[in-house]
Amino acid sequence: MISIIGGGPVGSYLASLLAPKRQVAVFEEHDAVGLPVQCTGITTQALAKVLNIRRQFLVNKVTASKIFAPNGKHIHVKLKNPNFIIDRTKFDRYVAEKAQEKGVKYYLGHKYKNCTRKNGKFELHFQDKHKPFQTDILVGADGPFSPVAKTTGLWKNRKMAVGVQARMSVDADPQTVEFYVGKGYFAWVVPESDKVGRVGTISYAKPNDVFKSFLKRRRLERCKIREYQSGVVPLHDPKIKTQGKNVYLVGDAATQVKATTFGGIVQGMMAAEELSKAILHNRNYEKLWKKRIGRDLRVGLMMRKKMDKFTDKKYNKLVNLFTQERVRKVLEKRDRDYPTKLMLELLVKEPRILGLLF
Ligand SMILES: Cc1cc2nc3c(=O)[nH]c(=O)nc-3n(C[C@H](O)[C@H](O)[C@H](O)COP(=O)(O)OP(=O)(O)OC[C@H]3O[C@@H](n4cnc5c(N)ncnc54)[C@H](O)[C@@H]3O)c2cc1C
Repeated sequence: MISIIGGGPVGSYLASLLAPKRQVAVFEEHDAVGLPVQCTGITTQALAKVLNIRRQFLVNKVTASKIFAPNGKHIHVKLKNPNFIIDRTKFDRYVAEKAQEKGVKYYLGHKYKNCTRKNGKFELHFQDKHKPFQTDILVGADGPFSPVAKTTGLWKNRKMAVGVQARMSVDADPQTVEFYVGKGYFAWVVPESDKVGRVGTISYAKPNDVFKSFLKRRRLERCKIREYQSGVVPLHDPKIKTQGKNVYLVGDAATQVKATTFGGIVQGMMAAEELSKAILHNRNYEKLWKKRIGRDLRVGLMMRKKMDKFTDKKYNKLVNLFTQERVRKVLEKRDRDYPTKLMLELLVKEPRILGLLF
């Protein structure tokens, strides 16, 4: 028996990969999969490499991005590969349904508390009066604060960023995603349509103040807020242990998140593919996922650490360098999910970027 704690996209995807061959149970603390939404739901085409993109969860596709400097100047990038905007509730439910079709049993309203080891097995304990559950393998796909990591000796202090996001009435181009960079934060307007957008900021400190001042910067402070969808994202930490004896961490629980943009859907799902191989074929999970996404996550982290020290002036210079045709062309061609290739090509086209970073 394999027990996965967390019915987010990563836990459910892993369950669907394991289920044809093994008995799998997913335990989710909420009474329904996919709620509350704490995500913007924008991904590159890399998502299509993991699973088929379905109309039932696709909200919009964007074909261009604008990246704004603090001084208001921007780069306009036509995306060779459009980005997907997904409905996270419908997406999470779609992935969970696929797992259920393969025989995975879902235990909703089950909040994992801790576990004890008995005769080589785990006994899982839940809040409320749920019965303990016996399992051979335990997986924490339980998000940034991973209770599985905390109760199995895999927790190590992590740095978290706070995303404040609202679904709002906006006047936006439905084909274009807007990104804003500035000292200490990163912000976005992701269009669902020409009338509704997902507007958010991410920062380490004073998240609500950062969000409010971004609404002013984008002149959205009077627009109607339909729903808040805020949440926490872990900064990738390559030193975190993601496996112990018959216990594994995956997705946000393993900090498998891009530190550049704080997106983690695709990276978590790719790591889930590696974990399924490790469990089914008795291979080393940590080696497998690091081989597949480790370098890109580390390069992203290195870029984030540099950008965290940027002043507004430095961001203005960076955006200015990117307005050059030869540099912009690289952004048009390369997905931000693969920052190693992106960075190398950018540095070849414009070595002054290296000077700004170091
Ligand atoms: C504001 C914001 C915007 C974001 N935007 C994007 C984006 O545009 N694109 C992108 O790729 N990524 C984005 N992310 C990151 C993305 O949401 C995560 O990387 C992704 O959800 C990770 O999936 P997961 O399955 O690992 O974790 P989660 O989606 O967090 O799922 C974990 C699940 O575990 C459950 N759980 C937790 N504790 C317990 C427990 N004790 N017992 C049982 N169940 C438990 C939770 O209820 C949850 O369902 C964003 C994050 C935030 C906060």
